[in-house]
Amino acid sequence: MTVIERSSGYYNQTREIASVDAWRTYHDQQIRDLAAKSYPLAPAIVDLFQRAGVKPADITSVDDLKLLPVTTKSDLARLQAENPPFGGFLTVPVNQLKRIFMSPGPIYDPQGQANEFWGWSEGFYAAGFRPNDVVINTFGYQMTPAGLMFEESLLDIGCCIIPTGVGNTETQVKIMQEMGVTGFVGMASFLRKIGETAIAQGLDPQKDLSLEIGYVAAEILTDTLRSEVEGMFGMRLRQGYGTADCGCLAYECSERNGMHFTSNAYIEILDPRTRETMGPGEPGEVVVTLFNATYPLVRFGTGDLSAYTVDACACGRTAPRLTRIMGRVDQVTKVKGMFVHPQQAQAVIAKFPQVAKFQIVVTRANEIDRMTFKLEMAAAPSAGDSFYDEIAGAIQEGIKLRPQLETVPLGTLAENSELIVDERVWDK
Ligand SMILES: [Zn+2]
Repeated sequence: MTVIERSSGYYNQTREIASVDAWRTYHDQQIRDLAAKSYPLAPAIVDLFQRAGVKPADITSVDDLKLLPVTTKSDLARLQAENPPFGGFLTVPVNQLKRIFMSPGPIYDPQGQANEFWGWSEGFYAAGFRPNDVVINTFGYQMTPAGLMFEESLLDIGCCIIPTGVGNTETQVKIMQEMGVTGFVGMASFLRKIGETAIAQGLDPQKDLSLEIGYVAAEILTDTLRSEVEGMFGMRLRQGYGTADCGCLAYECSERNGMHFTSNAYIEILDPRTRETMGPGEPGEVVVTLFNATYPLVRFGTGDLSAYTVDACACGRTAPRLTRIMGRVDQVTKVKGMFVHPQQAQAVIAKFPQVAKFQIVVTRANEIDRMTFKLEMAAAPSAGDSFYDEIAGAIQEGIKLRPQLETVPLGTLAENSELIVDERVWDK
């Protein structure tokens, strides 16, 4: 069996390893083109520009995007409902689209005629997918664009696809075995389930199956889940980040140290409230301007919270990387100027098995925010144990804030209680 080289090479070398200056020139040109070409065709773009008091000629570089308002996901749902089809963002007649999908919201998602419309090929290649991989695609093919979104790019790379959808784990194992499946696309938790099914059938997924590469999306991939699945199959698992409206926005490379920004969009990280631009390492909302001639979403607020780094990556790709997706913007709380998200806190507390449950209570006195971690302990720390120092240190490391700690008896916190309770009262 020949071993496939999955770590080197690029899908679009000129683009992916471009210099910072070349990226800048490329982005500025894309933004100018987008403004000039979409304005005469998309009434929603005209409306955005008019509200901001700008003309297409005023948009000459990515810096000028600041002049335009952010359109949130709920704005988009409302605009689509008020002004069908597609809220005025579509630049072609509906009957010239290739496909139309509907995702929860409800939001309609168009697919134009362009090859691999959603731009996942770059990400699949960086993950290690190669021509002639036989791939089971377990994302849905009906209503939602997920299944076809990935399929178009897998075909573009030259893979053979088996559209299995979700469920039917025993059949999935059978197909994997009989068709020599080398690739998986879907959710990591589902792949683990397939592996467990194979083991329950007396198979050894490493020896009896040929899975080498997996691409997961649509859920937060923890290090634990990734290692578990990689170990189970003896495979490489990489993740991508995107949305039904936008397609691929960022993807991991072989280095698995964050997700490189796609070259098919301009990505900003903004303060969800003030819309101020956040710098490297500062959490904020992922806001996207799509270089898409058919559906030019401009400054689309995904509602996802993330942060980015511009540190060099050993893979050679020069695009910045999203360090991780931290959750949804509407769940975030700002304490002493820092964003605190339930998932961030969960990740920290998960390292302390002594804690059965926790809740963060935010209060404010004398103009100072106070963050208290209520900890329901499964086992009390013994005398001389440095547990409290350790957990306070870990919280400070993970959330950048020093917490107050309060232990509460087992059973105090309700089963589905909120992870963050904000008790601050603000002057009107
Ligand atoms: Zn990289």
